[in-house]
Amino acid sequence: MGAITHSRKSNSLPALLQKFTGVAVSRCYQCGKCSAGCPLAEEMDYTPSRILRMLQLGLDGHEDSILRSFSLWVCLACETCYARCPQEVDIPKMMDFLRAESVSRKKVNPRGRDLLKFHQTLLDSVRYTGRLYEVGLIAGYKARTLNIFQDLMLAPRLYLLGKLKLFPHFIKNRKSLSRIYEKTGA
Ligand code: SF4
Ligand code: SF4
Repeated sequence: MGAITHSRKSNSLPALLQKFTGVAVSRCYQCGKCSAGCPLAEEMDYTPSRILRMLQLGLDGHEDSILRSFSLWVCLACETCYARCPQEVDIPKMMDFLRAESVSRKKVNPRGRDLLKFHQTLLDSVRYTGRLYEVGLIAGYKARTLNIFQDLMLAPRLYLLGKLKLFPHFIKNRKSLSRIYEKTGA
């Protein structure tokens, strides 16, 4: 087992997490309720409570493993874990922070890259129109992932069902939206 090396340093993940989100990993007493209720726990390499334990221990390699984990990208932000936690540990907020760190440190799990591209394309769609523009989202996602033919046959059906609008609908005050994007650095 590695030595406890960096969990208390000011630039450690737990310290940065607390500084930027207010989430204190020390509040978790490992009851496991979050992981038991998480609908995606079986798809995760590390369950939410396991991530918290790794952050608490801060052993060599733990931070790297967390930032490279697939768990960050399958989390739906459904907040079930937060609702069940007796200690009110805001795990969705923690996951958001860890995803951002994973991106900025270039440690995104290979299986999470397409999901990240989907997030980026969705944000772009909302940035330019103020709403979700499905056709633009699909086209942008396919261009980013080069999965050109995946699910292509669904498009005509969705169009006939009225689920796809060919042209985007723009909101009126897009300037205020731009300011939100600038402020959040999205
Ligand atoms: S439910 Fe809360 S206290 Fe229990 S393991 Fe999860 S985060 Fe920790
Ligand atoms: S927010 Fe994420 S970690 Fe929490 S229960 Fe939902 S999918 Fe699981």
